[in-house]
Amino acid sequence: AAMRKSRIKRTKTVCTYCGVGCSFEVWTKDRKILKIEPQEEAPVNGISTCIKGKFGWDFVNSEERLTKPLIRQGDRFVEATWDEALTLIAQKLTAIKDTHGADSIGYIASSKCSNEENYIFQKFARAVMGSNNVDNCSRYCQSPATAGLMRTVGIGGDSGTIRDIASASLVMVIGANPAESHPVLATRVKRAHKLNGQKLAVIDLRKHELAERADVFLRPKPGSDLVWLSAVTKYIIDQGWADRAFLEKRVNGLEEYVRSLEPYTLEYAEERTGLTREELVQLAVMIHEAESVCALWAMGVTQHMGATDTSTAISNLLLITGNYGRPGTGAYPLRGHNNVQGACDFGTMPAWFPGYEAVQDENVRARYEKAWGVKLPEHPGLNNHQMIESIHDGKLKAMYLFGEDMALVDSNSNHVHAAFEKLDFFVVQDIFFSKTAQFADVILPAAPSLEKDGTFTNTERRIQRFYKVFEPLGESKPDWEIIQEVAARLGAQWSYTHPGEIMAEAAALAPVFAGVSYERLEGWSSLLWPVAASGVDTPLLFTERFNMPEGKARLFPVAWTPPFEPGEEFDLHLNNGRILEHFHEGNMTYKSKGISHKVPSEWLEVSPELAEERGIESGALVRLTSPYGEVKVKVEVTDRVKGNELYLTMNSFADDSAVNRLTSSYHDRVTHTPSFKEMSVKMEVLKPK
Ligand code: SF4
Repeated sequence: AAMRKSRIKRTKTVCTYCGVGCSFEVWTKDRKILKIEPQEEAPVNGISTCIKGKFGWDFVNSEERLTKPLIRQGDRFVEATWDEALTLIAQKLTAIKDTHGADSIGYIASSKCSNEENYIFQKFARAVMGSNNVDNCSRYCQSPATAGLMRTVGIGGDSGTIRDIASASLVMVIGANPAESHPVLATRVKRAHKLNGQKLAVIDLRKHELAERADVFLRPKPGSDLVWLSAVTKYIIDQGWADRAFLEKRVNGLEEYVRSLEPYTLEYAEERTGLTREELVQLAVMIHEAESVCALWAMGVTQHMGATDTSTAISNLLLITGNYGRPGTGAYPLRGHNNVQGACDFGTMPAWFPGYEAVQDENVRARYEKAWGVKLPEHPGLNNHQMIESIHDGKLKAMYLFGEDMALVDSNSNHVHAAFEKLDFFVVQDIFFSKTAQFADVILPAAPSLEKDGTFTNTERRIQRFYKVFEPLGESKPDWEIIQEVAARLGAQWSYTHPGEIMAEAAALAPVFAGVSYERLEGWSSLLWPVAASGVDTPLLFTERFNMPEGKARLFPVAWTPPFEPGEEFDLHLNNGRILEHFHEGNMTYKSKGISHKVPSEWLEVSPELAEERGIESGALVRLTSPYGEVKVKVEVTDRVKGNELYLTMNSFADDSAVNRLTSSYHDRVTHTPSFKEMSVKMEVLKPK
């Protein structure tokens, strides 16, 4: 027995699913995962996990894993050696760059991969290939929140820690469903609400679990958040409840901002949002009476055409009421993927170097040019939305994408698929044969987090180390090694032997990571950026100054633009989002038996009123049609949705029910984040029950 026990290995890892960033020990024997054991020392979750973190790991040993490079031959893929695959990639990318220029190639990075992998991927795009056309999937989720916070307070991350949220007197949850999307964070809110008398206000279209528990639950009309936010802020100012001392000392732009609020009277808000005057006043009073307020928001805000402006309005409200820079206050855009924060932080964005320094800034560029020994492109590159349009325009000819199933998760899939078919050359690097891989010319087999070392950064800016448990399966390799090999074939002479060396380079170049090192991240240790060279990190932002000129925040006036209303033909509003058990497109969770057995497919939520009107019951099969495509899906009748609102779970791996068959190419006006949540459809009944 002692012998057997000695073969059991315990390794610290960080969850590969959501942005909460739970960490735990994984117990293994050979390639078998015995259990996941959370530990007291875990900085975010302590001894908690959710179903995904606990049971969502079988995919690592799935028979469907890619284990060899594949090269397209006509309509099929044939196995190839690494040498053949890399030689082909180098030849094709060189030829396309020589003929059409450096900006004819696009690079899509991965929010599932490590900080180090994202860092060297942007270095590859910029320094080796000479283009800033590099982006990641934050474009599909939280870019508008980042932009709204950059406008007002100068840092696009969460203001404080997840534990700090529990110390707020009032938590506002706007367009987010943390109980399913960020479960362990939601547990902290639930506990604080139940035991510490914390107040909870939920503003959402859908009555989800936190909405059921909230002290106040408001259901505004779709796309009207900016109106109620502005009306509540105006009411607070008109009542003389603004935090004058805070505004005077720490905030610019008050007068102009107050003028911009003039149209947002309670009457106007009642008409536009469908909320009553009493509801709006009740919320304003709650905010006024709270000692500390923090605002949590997610895709229900950010996936709209006015998303950056609505995110700005949330930040404006926090500034007016002095809710920044103290424990229990601040802005919490909730990051989706485990490392979407880190992918952005480490520079896979078309306008930013690592640590959010502009590619257009000459001094910053000079620093990178000196370190990397090359001349770097000055103009910002294309974002992923623009890349798709640029392929359709005949300008973008090739793409290199890793760890992102863009064919499934980008909006208006039919339009995206048509673009991929036009590419002259497409490299896809993944652990599975994804939907996107079907369009590739070369597919490279990558290794998941349990098969490599690295760091992830969670929603609260916390950088955490994960350790290798297994050797990569078959001939698969860690993404950073693959990127380094591709770079070598294209002339780079990098010699990273471990991700720690990549982190050391990033820390030497990006001031916000100055004090980050693998020594300081050993075991359960973690660091919240900015990290000073001394190693001191920043759990709570803005205690002394905002990251803006003069250290002062800025109130930023915004104006509401009405969303698309359902018309005569497409008469229903379709909302969509996650569920607890599955993660996003389900690439990993559907391959984890415990989870896929429990929830084998997606469903459509229909309100009791609408179900009665259309004569359908739970279990009915319907077809939804939008101007862009159609899906077939099963119905669940539930009062979580109201009236003509439909809700489709978004983890739709099956092609005929994938929500992005329906979504449009419309997007946020500032960041180009697709307006996934602004969608009108018609519903036909195929089987009534
Ligand atoms: Fe993983 Fe998020 Fe669940 Fe934590 S809450 S175990 S990070 S999926």
